[in-house]
Amino acid sequence: MKFCYCPDCKILRPKNWYSREKCEVCGARCKVIRVKTTVLGWLSYFFSLVAILFLVDFIAGDYAFLKSLDFMEAIPSELFVALIFVSIFAAFIFQYLELARATKTARGLIKGK
Ligand SMILES: [Zn+2]
Repeated sequence: MKFCYCPDCKILRPKNWYSREKCEVCGARCKVIRVKTTVLGWLSYFFSLVAILFLVDFIAGDYAFLKSLDFMEAIPSELFVALIFVSIFAAFIFQYLELARATKTARGLIKGK
């Protein structure tokens, strides 16, 4: 993931793909710091994807796809709803852990320069 560091304000912020490389406080161009995505980040993406797939399947046709899978047939619909929430929660937790770790790494990179 990417961070935006402003040398003037000494502010480090996670950089979103849609945000420009500018400091949100003073508007100066910030320094982009790249931190490698770890397994925590990928787990976050994975659970987000699972939650989205479950939601799409639910909206599109009352779990028509999931229920067409043999091993899913025995699972009640209530459990699918629970799985959606668990997946969203897991994605959120892993995202948080990844951000905490990446922030630490980024701070280390700033100090190292
Ligand atoms: Zn600034």
